[in-house]
Order: sequence, then structure tokens, then C-alpha cells
Amino acid sequence: MIPPHGPNRQIALGPFPAGALRSVLAALRNDSTTIDLDRRCALSFDRAGRLIRAFWNGRSIRRGLDDRFVEKHKTGPYPWSFARRELAPAERLALLDGVVREISAIRDGVRGGASGLSKGEAADLCERLTAVLVWTPGARDADAARFRSIYLPVPILPPDQYEALVVQVTEGCAYNQCAFCRFYRDRAFRAKPANELREHLRAVRAFFGAGISLRRSVFLADANALVLSPSRLVEAFDLLREELPFGPGALRGVYSFIDAFSCVPKSPAHFRSLAERGLRRVYLGLETGCDELLQFLEKPGSREEAVTLVQTLRAAGVAVGIIVLLGVGGERYLERHVALTLAALEAMRLGPNDIVYLSPLTADPDSPYRRLEREAGIRPLTDVEMAAQLSTIKAGLRAGPAGRPKTAVYDIRDFLY
Ligand code: SF4
Repeated sequence: MIPPHGPNRQIALGPFPAGALRSVLAALRNDSTTIDLDRRCALSFDRAGRLIRAFWNGRSIRRGLDDRFVEKHKTGPYPWSFARRELAPAERLALLDGVVREISAIRDGVRGGASGLSKGEAADLCERLTAVLVWTPGARDADAARFRSIYLPVPILPPDQYEALVVQVTEGCAYNQCAFCRFYRDRAFRAKPANELREHLRAVRAFFGAGISLRRSVFLADANALVLSPSRLVEAFDLLREELPFGPGALRGVYSFIDAFSCVPKSPAHFRSLAERGLRRVYLGLETGCDELLQFLEKPGSREEAVTLVQTLRAAGVAVGIIVLLGVGGERYLERHVALTLAALEAMRLGPNDIVYLSPLTADPDSPYRRLEREAGIRPLTDVEMAAQLSTIKAGLRAGPAGRPKTAVYDIRDFLY
């Protein structure tokens, strides 16, 4: 059941006479509940009562649907200067014990009439807090196991899609050999047949339950679901409409990654038929506008193919997110990477509905990319050089006829589904 969509409300509770709580702010939104405790902790839950994120005694923590908890803190001046770590099981339990204590105390206070709320508000808040308290350690374990039975690990999404409802129409990457990318090395590419996709959609919807209201869009995963034939894609989009709640206050559109070398046909009519079925934006890993560097990265395609694809998509009414790697090719390719990437972005004639993501290269010392870099004798960029590259690309990005695209840094290490 999707929760009813009344107005969002923010209410102040307390002060509570007993216990440590002095003041509590509760934001009762259609899609989530946030509890602010004495301005020192804030807890956000979806409408199924699952904890989503916590600001807890100065620590910023997010929880994944697989029940992993990741803490993040700033370590330096650059947009990518963050340290992240997964909480150990004991830390996780201590945090959750604290959450249960606080939420139980608030519920008891509200039930005891200490909140000063109207009867209706008190009942709504109690119902939401009760949904939170359902998540005992055993229930969370079972939920995480259920999540893992429905999904292969979701290794990455574009930042504006972090809270999308992921549907794994396909699994893996149809190419899977780019030297800088290891997202899908654990799986072979395959497409789900229609009957399996329908089952997947039903399982996804049942898993999220009331929490589906937090999801505003559908993301077709994994890496390049749009590689499927037009007839299979139309079938898949029609299944989405049949099985998922689209409409006002619910899911609003469909999003996906795309690549310039494997997606056929690249006709406006093909993309228009998908746009009519809800496709809103696709995300293209351009990486660089320098074809020589793209070859070095062992990624097929070319600047020209990428530009042509983007023009076709835009003509069909589909917006784009273009992903550019920062620091790639090190000092040897620095100037060509910037100049040719800016040339590609300009030729795409991007507008205000489009996004350019600038993604700092992240590669382990033992990754294929670092091996190629060492063999070629390329010096990696320093943080200072990479920050300068970021500024130069942002400053050099020209507005298209309709206005400027948005830009944002895309740190892939931030992702947690
Ligand atoms: S960058 Fe894209 S095309 Fe290349 S291996 Fe990764 S997911 Fe596949």
C-alpha cells in the first residue's frame, strides 16, 4: 500500500517531562519521516519505517537496503576529499539500540499525552514510530536477505538517481572491458525475459512496500539496458507501467545509462517511442572527448559517435547526463583531454535539462587502468592539478541555445543503494 498523500507537516513536540529528551521536531512528509532530537541528532525513515540516514552525535551515516551502514567525513579541501567507512556489526548495533531507545521514548511521550499534539497528529506520528520499531535485528537481517534475493548488487547510479527504484531489466555490462571500470566484473551480461522481468517487478514492489513512496523515478539497470532491441524495450517499458505505480505523487519517469557504441538503432523515432513511455533522461559515459585517450582506456566509441547520439536523444525529447572523468590520462593527456572534452560538450548543445557530471578517476593500484598508466610512464595528476582541471572544464562549458547544463562532481565512492 502506498501511504496517502496529505500535506507535509513539521511539528514540535515536548518538552518531555521524563528522560533525557527536551525538544523534538518531527517532519511528517508524504514519503518519509524525519525526527530531530534536541538539534543534536536527526533520523530519517522511509514510510515502511526503514532507517535511511542518521546524523548521530556529530557523525553522518547512511544505511543501504542491504543493511550496510556507511559513515562519511570530510578530510580536505577538495570536493572528493572524504573518508568513508562501513560500520562494524557492533557499532551498527549500538547505533540502532540508541535509535530504538529514542524512538520508543518519543512514542511513549506522545501516547502519554506529553506532546501537545492533536489527536490526529499524535495517531499519525505513533503509527510512523511503530513502523520504525518493527525493524528488530532479526527483521532487518531478513529484509537484507530478501533484498539480496531480488537484486544483484547495485554498484552505481548517477547522483540524481541515488533514490530511484532500480529495476534490473538486464544484468551486467554488454562490453565489460573498460580499463577504468570494475562495476560489473562479477557478472555476465544477460537480459531478463518478459516473464522473469514481471516477477522481478512484483518482487521489487512488494519489497519496498510503503517505502516505495520515497522513490520518484525508475532506473533501468544495470550498465546498458538500452542495448536491447526496440521491441524488447517497448515490452519492458509497458511492463513497468503495468506493474509499478506511476503518476502524481508516485513514480514520475524512467532513467538509464546508455553507451554510444552498443546502442542500436540510434534513431529519433526509437527514442521518441521510449520517451512516450516515460524515458526522461539517459546517462552517457563520455569519459573524454579525446579519441586517443578513449582508446587508451580500452573503451570503444568516439567523440563523434557520442555527439551524434546525444543530438539524436535530444531531438527525441530525452535529456542527457554526460559523465566526464577527471584526471584520466594523467599529465600526458591533460591538455587534449580538457580541450577535446569541451569541444564534444559544446557540439552536444546541452541545455538546462541536461547535466554534466565531473567524476574524479578512482582506480586501485592493481586495477587495469593503473597498470596501463605505469606501462605508459604516465604521471597521475595531483589533487591540485585535478582541481584545476575541474575548474577549467566548468569555466569552459558553453551554454547551448536554451541555456547552460547543470554541472556537479560525481564521486562514485559515495554511492550506496
Ligand atoms: S564503463 Fe560502462 S561500458 Fe565500460 S565496462 Fe564500465 S559499465 Fe561497461
